[in-house]
Amino acid sequence: MVIPLMFLSCTATKKVSDSAALKGDVDQSLTESTVDINDIKAHIHYLASDEMRGRDTPSNELNIAARYLSTSMMRYGVKPLPGYEDYLQKVPMKTVTPADTGMIKIGTHEMALLTDFLPLDGDNFEVSAETIFLNRGTEKDYEKADVKGKIVVTICGYEGQDNPQEWFYAAKQKQALSKKNGAVAHVEIYKNPQIPFVFLARFFSGSATMLDDEPEEDGFPMVWVNAGSEAAINTLKEGGKTRCNIYVDGMKVEPVKTYNVVGMVEGSDPELKNEYIIYSAHYDHVGVGREVEGDSIYNGARDNAVGSVTVLEAAENLALHPTKRSALFIFFTGEEKGLLGSQYYADNPIIPLNKVTYCFNSDNAGYNDTSVATIIGLERTHAENLIQQACTTYGLKAIQDNMPQEGLFDRSDNVNFAKKGVPAPTFSLGITAFDETVNTYYHQPADGPNTLDYDYLLKFFKSYVYACRLIGNTSQSVFWKEGDKYYDAGKELYGK
Ligand SMILES: [Zn+2]
Repeated sequence: MVIPLMFLSCTATKKVSDSAALKGDVDQSLTESTVDINDIKAHIHYLASDEMRGRDTPSNELNIAARYLSTSMMRYGVKPLPGYEDYLQKVPMKTVTPADTGMIKIGTHEMALLTDFLPLDGDNFEVSAETIFLNRGTEKDYEKADVKGKIVVTICGYEGQDNPQEWFYAAKQKQALSKKNGAVAHVEIYKNPQIPFVFLARFFSGSATMLDDEPEEDGFPMVWVNAGSEAAINTLKEGGKTRCNIYVDGMKVEPVKTYNVVGMVEGSDPELKNEYIIYSAHYDHVGVGREVEGDSIYNGARDNAVGSVTVLEAAENLALHPTKRSALFIFFTGEEKGLLGSQYYADNPIIPLNKVTYCFNSDNAGYNDTSVATIIGLERTHAENLIQQACTTYGLKAIQDNMPQEGLFDRSDNVNFAKKGVPAPTFSLGITAFDETVNTYYHQPADGPNTLDYDYLLKFFKSYVYACRLIGNTSQSVFWKEGDKYYDAGKELYGK
């Protein structure tokens, strides 16, 4: 690939006439004073090495990666946050191995685990009680009924909801109501032509890692039963005399040791240093999995050693040359398990989120266009021009996400900050489609450190660090654009 002309002209002409351009040039030369291709290569080759075994959450290798990131920050002179002297924020998680035996008996009917029912929640348990049918299980339904000591039976979801995700959240609410009203268990009848029960059962049959900070009603026995078992379901719905016995066994819950890695650099401006910019990336990947062409280690070089190293490069640069605003560097655990580390951080921020002006996240699926950087959410905040300026300087075009159908904004850690109101785009390698080039590496063992175009990466890294500097120093607003989905959340967060 040829170097775009823009790259040549930008480095050749230095404008010193107006102060904004001058500022830009200072930040540009400071960027270039630290961003180094050999550093970048070394970091990526370490984090995405086979020895890291794909940095699964949880794994010992993930914790070694955390230590690598924290000691790198230590070397760069990034400061730990008070109370987090080793740069590690413990993220409480658990791994749940699902039950392997269980049965529902009602009258002469028997329902088998996974074929006919599956536990959504509750440890191993055994209950025996009468059933009571409460239709959809709305608050009104509970008002009219005495559920004390009984097994509540309802139909999945609320009126008008038709997808299992909504049903799952509805189930959480009903579970809380059943527990509060003294029931002993809750059974919901599942029927969905789009997602047959067997698919659902398959989804729930593997072990899962999740945050361990859930409210107390969790643990109350809750199961979904397959509407296909009609005779048994009719007896469940009848209620009264016939006792129902449910038991579930073999479930294991293990606590998980895992961390977000955090460090900070104080800003240089006496006023603006009270504002923070978050520079973040997830450092976990999906571990070891199905073998493809003799390789079973999913190295996650693009996803997301590259993102982690962009943040490391920013940390090195800002520690030496702080911007006016303070910088907060966060490496998230458990992104691939459902954005867990960032969710935990956003709910338990070490620096209050109303002091955080921007979150500049970096995450990558892969790339198929080395003339661009794709910024998911570029057009949604007023930092758009700064990010464009940074990319243009290094010969890349900053483009916005053109794949709305992929829902990328909501598929990375930035969304957990956006939901709280913090403007938060994600800086990514140039991607314009999930085409063959991207899918060759995306969540594949092929995503290793030797398959990257490091000439392109150098431009990409310089663009990120330069953009960090411009955002950290700017006198302009970097807030959401008016009308954005998260604009009001932002106004509320900052009391605007
Ligand atoms: Zn991923």
